[in-house]
Amino acid sequence: MIIDGKAVAQQVRDEVRLAARRLRKDHGVVPGLAVVLVGDDPASRVYVRNKEKACAEVGIRSVEHLLPASVPEHELLDLIARLNGDPAIHGILVQLPLPEHIASARILEAVSPDKDVDGFHPVNQGLLLSGGEGFRPCTPLGVMRMLDSVGCALKGRNAVVVGRSNIVGKPVALMLLERHATVTLCHSRTADLAGEVGRAEVVVAAVGKAHAIRGEWIRPGAVVIDVGINRLPTGKLAGDVEFVAARERASWISPVPGGVGPMTICMLLSNTLLSARRSVA
Ligand code: NDP
Repeated sequence: MIIDGKAVAQQVRDEVRLAARRLRKDHGVVPGLAVVLVGDDPASRVYVRNKEKACAEVGIRSVEHLLPASVPEHELLDLIARLNGDPAIHGILVQLPLPEHIASARILEAVSPDKDVDGFHPVNQGLLLSGGEGFRPCTPLGVMRMLDSVGCALKGRNAVVVGRSNIVGKPVALMLLERHATVTLCHSRTADLAGEVGRAEVVVAAVGKAHAIRGEWIRPGAVVIDVGINRLPTGKLAGDVEFVAARERASWISPVPGGVGPMTICMLLSNTLLSARRSVA
């Protein structure tokens, strides 16, 4: 069966809207998200606009900071310091990529870990590793929420994550481990990818190559989450999993588009709400 990312994302948005309303009623707090965009990359502009729209729909106040591509690094750091100190702002999102003269790592580390709703700060990465409370990155959170949405039991199950990036593969693997799955993390040097995937009861693909995971590798009954977003020469979007063949074998599979894609923004909303709630706790 197909895991409908749009429907799960709608459920998360409804939950966030209700909780935001309650927070305003009980504590007079409106969750605030600052979105910082440097330069005029058209794709980044679209992302930022979508994030603002999504915020408005659930009662999160979003504040956009548009800076020219030529902005000196110290000015960007000053802005982040101001946002860190602003009690009306609960989340700070710096849209990547940044121009080359700016050290992205320095900027991301300047964001207060308490407002790092993207979950990219080394403190939050460390908290994930050690099982502490922090902000978890949004796409991996979306993957976990999708697994939960179909009642996928994780305890003791064999889970294979393909891809070991800091933003998707590694955090997903840690979150699955936290939920007591037996986790194998595969990458481009994995000797027998087909064999590893074939043993998996849960597969998460985050490779960035269309159809890198062949349908015939999927173990019958496995749950498959496809994070990949790849543009085919035809202009169409495709995931990392060979969908048509894989769906014949999987019990549940997420499509591309309409799978993990819609989840990322709504988990950002959820993290911003969490931050606002922590501010009154
Ligand atoms: P990266 O390019 O950072 O990482 C890709 C990973 O895949 C690497 O660990 C790489 O291994 C591994 N890999 C590459 N080729 C192979 C192969 N043939 N066999 C096994 N492993 C391989 O990508 P991201 O993690 O940033 O993104 C992955 C995909 O997810 C992309 O398509 C991206 O667009 C999509 N994405 C979707 C999001 C969403 O909202 N839905 C959000 C973020 C990403 P190695 O480390 O050895 O190089």
